[in-house]
Amino acid sequence: MSRLRGQGHQAYLVGGAVRDLLLGGHPKDFDIATDATPEDVHALFRNSRIIGRRFRIVHVRFGREIIEVTTFRGHHDESDDTQRGDGNRSRQSASGQLLRDNVYGTLEEDAVRRDLTVNAIYYDAGNFEVFDHVGGLQDLQARRIRVIGDPEQRYTEDPVRMLRVLRFAAKLQFSVEEETAAAIPRCAHLLGHIPPARLFDEFLKLFLAGYAETTLDHLIRHELLAYLFPATAANLARDASGLALITAAMRNTDQRVANDKPVTPAFILAALLWPVVSEQARQLEAGGEPPMVAMHIASQQATSEAIQHITIPRRFSQPMHEIWEFQLRLANRRGRKAAELPDHRRFRAAYDFLLLREEAGEDTGDLAAWWTPFQELPLEERLQQAGSGGAGKGRRRPRKRRNPSTT
Ligand code: ATP
Ligand code: MG
Repeated sequence: MSRLRGQGHQAYLVGGAVRDLLLGGHPKDFDIATDATPEDVHALFRNSRIIGRRFRIVHVRFGREIIEVTTFRGHHDESDDTQRGDGNRSRQSASGQLLRDNVYGTLEEDAVRRDLTVNAIYYDAGNFEVFDHVGGLQDLQARRIRVIGDPEQRYTEDPVRMLRVLRFAAKLQFSVEEETAAAIPRCAHLLGHIPPARLFDEFLKLFLAGYAETTLDHLIRHELLAYLFPATAANLARDASGLALITAAMRNTDQRVANDKPVTPAFILAALLWPVVSEQARQLEAGGEPPMVAMHIASQQATSEAIQHITIPRRFSQPMHEIWEFQLRLANRRGRKAAELPDHRRFRAAYDFLLLREEAGEDTGDLAAWWTPFQELPLEERLQQAGSGGAGKGRRRPRKRRNPSTT
């Protein structure tokens, strides 16, 4: 900021960092707003690059930190865009969604183009001054999430803002202001226009940041879950019993985040889609399919339906399928396969998933109680206990690392 100011530019800290500092927390990243253009900023910082198309911003690297520097966004009169030849800088879809927004302006204009009042507080580190043009400080004090301007219009410009409202309400444990909340069900369908890849990015922020349980509750209450995971939402609407496992998974993930343990989207996705997969597998089994085949078909069906709405990269869908199919393999406690299961790289996640199913009241025949001590035994003892003879005999058979049906 001081380098920009030194060149006669304005530069303010804005967004999450100011919000979190005012709340007494630790900002996780720093966003700077300036009147310098991306090209100006890039020229001033060797360690920077211009990124983005929808929004052109500059990433400035300081050691391990990346600072996002954004040029003040301005107003643009939509009807004027074509006449002024500004179509290149700002563009809207037929549904009113902002496709591009690179018209520059002043701090005041920039403030009203941000999403939430509590995200539009500017801090001038030179004069130690705070600028608040949208009542952000008041909402911060009242612990309230409010969209700047007319919520319906702002959600139409960018439907992802609805998810951001609920994400910040969950993260900060804030309430959602009445109009901000009331417009959500009315605009929810607009999320259908959002590319699946952007929804996946937002999904990660919603569910892997340490407040997934509250977020899920908000998503259900404000009728948005149906736009991220429609089959799950429909399943829960028919029969709420599936919610127990999903909630248990969220709580578990939140605890892991709080304890600085690694978390994976695969596990959360496995939980979110489990009611759909298990119901479908049950039906296929009732129709005569063997359990493994039924599970396999159900997994494939649930996944291909889900990815119409939200991207699930292969590196996550693969382990998700393994977690599901492992639930059947864990039901088998006899033989070499069972004895070797704890050495499989997906055992841990699958076993954790089994614990959640039991915690959620699913009847697994007390499987976890058996696997909990069993997995701690050395292989030799596992082989004996599973009744598959000594280790020497089995070595002749190649070890199957992975179920071929999952690949
Ligand atoms: P955090 O980084 O803690 O999740 P943040 O508020 O910094 O929270 P970012 O996603 O980093 O959130 O965005 C930075 C700022 O950019 C926001 O505070 C907000 O002012 C603005 N912003 C982000 N996304 C949007 C959007 N979809 N519409 C309008 N303004 C947005
Ligand atoms: Mg940020």
